[in-house]
Amino acid sequence: MSDLSLPKEFESRMKSYLGENEFREFSKALKKDPLVSVRINRHKTETQPENSKPVPWNEDGFFLEERPSFTLDPLFHAGCYYVQEASSMFIQHILKSIAAPQNGIFLDLSAAPGGKSTLLSSYLGKKGFLVANEVIKSRANILKENIIKWGLGNTLVTQNDPEHFEDLEGFFDLVLVDAPCSGEGMFRKDPDAMSEWSPDHVALCAARQERIMDKASAFVKGGGYLIYSTCTFNEKENEEMVRFIVSEYDYEPVKIPLDPSWGIVESEVLIDEVSYFGYRFFPHRVEGEGFFITVMKRPEDALVHEPKRTKDFKHPYLKPVGKQEAEKLMVQLGLPDYSGFYNLQDSYFWVNKDFQQHFEYLARFLNIRYFGVELGKINKQQFIPNHELAVSILPKTGFLKVDLDLKDALDYLRKEDIPIKDLPEGWVLVTFKNTPLGWLKNLGNRTNNYYPKDWRIRMR
Ligand code: SAM
Repeated sequence: MSDLSLPKEFESRMKSYLGENEFREFSKALKKDPLVSVRINRHKTETQPENSKPVPWNEDGFFLEERPSFTLDPLFHAGCYYVQEASSMFIQHILKSIAAPQNGIFLDLSAAPGGKSTLLSSYLGKKGFLVANEVIKSRANILKENIIKWGLGNTLVTQNDPEHFEDLEGFFDLVLVDAPCSGEGMFRKDPDAMSEWSPDHVALCAARQERIMDKASAFVKGGGYLIYSTCTFNEKENEEMVRFIVSEYDYEPVKIPLDPSWGIVESEVLIDEVSYFGYRFFPHRVEGEGFFITVMKRPEDALVHEPKRTKDFKHPYLKPVGKQEAEKLMVQLGLPDYSGFYNLQDSYFWVNKDFQQHFEYLARFLNIRYFGVELGKINKQQFIPNHELAVSILPKTGFLKVDLDLKDALDYLRKEDIPIKDLPEGWVLVTFKNTPLGWLKNLGNRTNNYYPKDWRIRMR
């Protein structure tokens, strides 16, 4: 972007914050094209993207030399990577620095489209559990799609207002609030952010952030962590929010180690002679977009809310699967021994058994949009697999596989007919570079393409 004329009030505020000289560097950086970066899903691939260099604060992150057509890359649809700007990837460095428990239960309260949720999901891997929440319905749909493609099966997608979590005070090991904000850090990436900007909009965002943080800060358990982030530069939505949280709740400061070569600026917020810390990402100093993030720890002696045991789980539409049926499914699909199952309508869902108690407790309060992995249905003794199973990291024992070349893989993703030869009739797992894309049913003389209609690609 070359013609960038910044809103006057924004310009004068940034000048007084950075000083005239540094502001010149800052506005020069805003005129450059944004960098393109991706974060790979190590549960699906270990391959570093071609012509890329690592993001220094995240071992899964890579800067690409130029923006490829992601739509025309089957591995993008297979959930092998997520396109995410690099500053946000700093969360991985935070999780490692604070040694956040990998077998913990985390909440991402403002999660759509899912950049940070997929990062948290990767961190938790097979041991932990994530609640990814988004209040806006259309955005919750996109979040669900991205969580399904990421495929780790450790996530419950909910669509709730922050206040619906009120009964879950002290429940989570970690709460992330990536708050809706005035988006000053996105001016070069998303010019709409600039046209929507005004001092009134900043004030409105700050008031909304207070309302969110007033609730969210309570959901962290004693000894757990609260992470708050925005993609804006102004102090009202950043350092002032640290002040607000600490004025309402008991939180201890957390300092994150930084490598000076990264260019991240630590900002100190002094509250009653105690220093709290925020981390600022400016595009003239860092290879990434504008971003702010802070971490705080709830004192060990604060409330810890354990989920109550429910002996007979009762839910209007979720039914636990009986022991015998569960064992049959485990053997048939080769599922791990930490598998738990539910029926929703006539579909089978998989969850990590270690979190069933948490899940059943959460299901009492929250509006569930997706959870675990939808496996499929049983019809006339036959197992009909779901797309969600194909793109998940769960084993798919007993199914035939066909690995397609690029042309056929793209045609498959366009939901076109794929001729396959020399395979017996039945369900076939379609892969590209051995990574699952979805299902085909081989009927002998033709095949049926079961790629989800709503996800099909239209680009040639
Ligand atoms: N964390 C996401 C990611 O990394 O992909 C981006 C989140 S975006 C900055 C903020 C989100 O907050 C939006 O999806 C927006 O719909 C949601 N939101 C809007 N109003 C909200 C509210 N009152 N409470 C909680 N979230 C809200």
